[in-house]
Amino acid sequence: MGLNNLQIKEAHQGLCQGKFSSQELVQDCLNAIEKDNQQINAFITILKEESLKEARRVDQEKLFLKSSLAGIPLGIKDNILLDGVLCTAGSKMLENYQAPYDATVIKNLKKAGAILIGKTNLDEFALGSSSETSYFGPVKNPHDLSRVPGGSSGGSAAAVADKMCLGALGSDTGGSVRQPASFCGLVGFKPSYGMVSRYGLMAAASSLDQIGPLGKSVEDVRFIFDILRGSDSRDSTTQIKENARINKKNKEIKDLKIGVPQECLGEGLSPSVKSAFEKKIDDLEKKGAQIKKVNLPLLRHALAIYYLIMPAEVSSNLARYDGIRYGFSEFVKSKNLLDFYLKSRSQSFGEEVKRRIILGTYSLTSGHKEDYYLRAQKIRTLLKKSFDDIFRQKIDCLISPTTPTSAFALGEKKDDPLAMYLSDILTVPANLAGLPAISLPMMTKEKGLPIGWQIIGNYLKDDQILDLAQLMED
Ligand code: GLN
Repeated sequence: MGLNNLQIKEAHQGLCQGKFSSQELVQDCLNAIEKDNQQINAFITILKEESLKEARRVDQEKLFLKSSLAGIPLGIKDNILLDGVLCTAGSKMLENYQAPYDATVIKNLKKAGAILIGKTNLDEFALGSSSETSYFGPVKNPHDLSRVPGGSSGGSAAAVADKMCLGALGSDTGGSVRQPASFCGLVGFKPSYGMVSRYGLMAAASSLDQIGPLGKSVEDVRFIFDILRGSDSRDSTTQIKENARINKKNKEIKDLKIGVPQECLGEGLSPSVKSAFEKKIDDLEKKGAQIKKVNLPLLRHALAIYYLIMPAEVSSNLARYDGIRYGFSEFVKSKNLLDFYLKSRSQSFGEEVKRRIILGTYSLTSGHKEDYYLRAQKIRTLLKKSFDDIFRQKIDCLISPTTPTSAFALGEKKDDPLAMYLSDILTVPANLAGLPAISLPMMTKEKGLPIGWQIIGNYLKDDQILDLAQLMED
């Protein structure tokens, strides 16, 4: 029947009007998974029986009359804990790890009656931009199977783009929701830092991580975000009063003042991305928006400070995977404790994870800490301040392309970490400053491949940014 082609809103209406059941909707998604997953590799775990059972309950109790997500099949990135289900983080280290509890976002989704159809593939421990570093093999882009879907939430993006589910959760530390959304022609939203609880998300870099939704439209992403958001006593960074939904009157495009940071249009942008983005600006101007060139000179340093702070936090967070408390263990084959740690960790972490641990440990060592880690933190503070200064000039939002290029070929950057890191250049600033940012697909494509653009908002103005995105969406 192809119910999996529907957007969440349409599916919700169809359920409420009795046009079809949640079981039928879930079955159509499962059929797509059955048909394509072997090739696309979007899911690591498929929860077939569980999701059909839950759909039956939603149908029987007509839960969709109470909640917009009830009966809607969603994919969950495999670094978010779902009680009793494998949670691998795409790593051999956690190949057999079963989650002992639900993440707060999962609790919220379950309460809303959402159907959690499976756990999606990702770069190992969410470190990457292509979803090629997973122990379970690379994910492929449904728009072109010879290309990457982006990363690290590439499984989530590929699953939604291939209609294996209607929406999905990813985590965004430096762009891992927005970049794959952009490569797969979807909408991906990274909320303000603190809007969504991180309890039960496997930490990569705790001061940057946020869970965010991917979907086919801004409205779909908003449905999911509204369920995820809110204060949680288990994550002290969510203790902010602004995370209740605000309903303000919508502006119109002609009332908008939009900033374009000139630093985002420099070298490295592919000609097609650049011209597509310029066309977007023209279009907004024609509709009456006021476009203002702005300067954020510190953006030039964003990638450098990200790749100091991020690995530093990763090296500390991943220390817990020692083969004793968690993970792959080489106990039997080890001579002593040190040998045990060395064997367990070196045999089960992949190359990129090791690279980040080495980088992070180095930048935190005494003697280097002042030169690298602490200096990066100072520039981070200045970067935040420069965003504040821009938003004080009554600018509604900032816009830029999401990524410098469209989806690159599988293997193209795998052995060139610097080239890979450069693909994050436009997404990391929002994480460093804790700002809400959303990636939207553009009408213009590059040889059939999607291109994304990004709207960045002021801190905690998530509702406003979603409103604006809805206004400006193609
Ligand atoms: N690509 C970025 C990195 O590898 C972002 C990762 C993420 O957002 N989880 O660090």
